Amino acid sequence: MADVERYDAVVIGAGTGGYPAGIRLGQLGVKALVVEKQYAGGVCLNVGCIPSKALIHAAKMFDKSKHLDEIGIKGLGSPQIDMEAMQKWKGTVVGKLTGGVKTLLKANKTAYLEGTATFLAPNRLEIKKADGTTTTVETKSVVVATGSVPIQIPGFTFDGKRVLDSTGALALTSLPKRMVVIGGGYIGLELGTVYAKLGTKVTVVEALPSLLTGVDPDCVKVVAQKLKKLGVEVVLEAKAKSWEDKGDRAVVTIET
Ligand SMILES: Cc1cc2nc3c(=O)[nH]c(=O)nc-3n(C[C@H](O)[C@H](O)[C@H](O)COP(=O)(O)OP(=O)(O)OC[C@H]3O[C@@H](n4cnc5c(N)ncnc54)[C@H](O)[C@@H]3O)c2cc1C
Repeated sequence: MADVERYDAVVIGAGTGGYPAGIRLGQLGVKALVVEKQYAGGVCLNVGCIPSKALIHAAKMFDKSKHLDEIGIKGLGSPQIDMEAMQKWKGTVVGKLTGGVKTLLKANKTAYLEGTATFLAPNRLEIKKADGTTTTVETKSVVVATGSVPIQIPGFTFDGKRVLDSTGALALTSLPKRMVVIGGGYIGLELGTVYAKLGTKVTVVEALPSLLTGVDPDCVKVVAQKLKKLGVEVVLEAKAKSWEDKGDRAVVTIET
């Protein structure tokens, strides 16, 4: 039988839930291991908060640069979008932060292992690494911080080309002429705003009677006004039912 490694605590998942738990365990002197199957930093650092804020920043700069002459800054020429360069820059922003996760864990004496953790028993885990080898770990406690995955709504299977999840929408290397964002929550509105500022004609379809459900209505009003100013069309109380490939475009059917 292969050697068994022993820890006081194992954290499964190195997202914003898992890696701070790993750091804190290390600070408290607990012998801990963080296991991560895909990317240190999880969704937030790799395909969520950080890349979305990087693109929001870039889109904002582009939008502002179009109006510089209004405040007396002239002679800079007309700004243009290079999506590939923007994605490359976004990658460097993400890279700086994700690199820091492993450094922080190490600095706090918490071990880090890349692999997929599976429970063999309540206190025994098997960790399968990318090269196919496995490590067995025994532990007193486990923190399950495995996060979530995007849901696929019926009729809209992600294909990475026409129907994208948020990860796909953050990685576009060319600018679409039109975009339908299904869901007027903060992720949909962040991404919709980015592309609207870069020049895409964006339509947001939201099933509920308001954008940003659960958010203070006064704040929602401000966001809705801003979207209108950017030319974003918002369709409330509408469900996206299906879509059709028309060659050079997709046609989305909604039910109001
Ligand atoms: C576009 C976008 C923008 C966002 N913006 C913001 C924002 O501005 N502010 C904010 O607060 N939140 C934001 N979020 C939400 C934020 O990303 C999540 O709330 C956060 O990532 C959740 O962290 P988590 O650690 O719970 O899960 P995750 O980040 O999903 O991490 C879980 C980790 O567990 C790993 N894992 C899963 N199963 C196993 C296994 N069996 N073995 C080993 N590892 C495993 C996964 O690979 C993953 O890395 C945004 C999300 C998106 C998509």
